[in-house]
Amino acid sequence: MAEETIFTKIINRDIPADIIYEDDKALAFKDVNPQAPFHCLVIPKEPIATANDINEDNAALVGHLYVIAAKLAVEYNFAEDGYRLVMNCNEYGGQSVYHIHLHVLAGKQLGWPPYTDKL
Ligand code: 5GP
Repeated sequence: MAEETIFTKIINRDIPADIIYEDDKALAFKDVNPQAPFHCLVIPKEPIATANDINEDNAALVGHLYVIAAKLAVEYNFAEDGYRLVMNCNEYGGQSVYHIHLHVLAGKQLGWPPYTDKL
């Protein structure tokens, strides 16, 4: 079992968040520091620490996060224009909260991080 993070506090309503979707297995809420006009996080209620902990036993739950993202894309009307789904993993991936979350970024043309030391 992953350690408790700030996202557990959001699930338990111990701290506030702008929750835009909830069911028995998952929650989606607006990111407090948005990187796009629409930026929410879709999380499982069961705390899975990182993408490294995804396995056959929790694959359906992780897949459910993508189903929710697709539903939100329709509901918030950015499915046609497009959007980005990102899950950061560990230090090099830029993960800061160790409870897996799908970033849903939309509402503008998104850039891709430059890989400047390629040459
Ligand atoms: P990561 O860096 O782990 O991929 O993403 C963590 C995300 O959680 C960041 O985009 C950050 O802005 C967001 N975040 C961190 N703490 C909170 C919080 O207390 N409330 C909300 N709504 N978002 C948070």
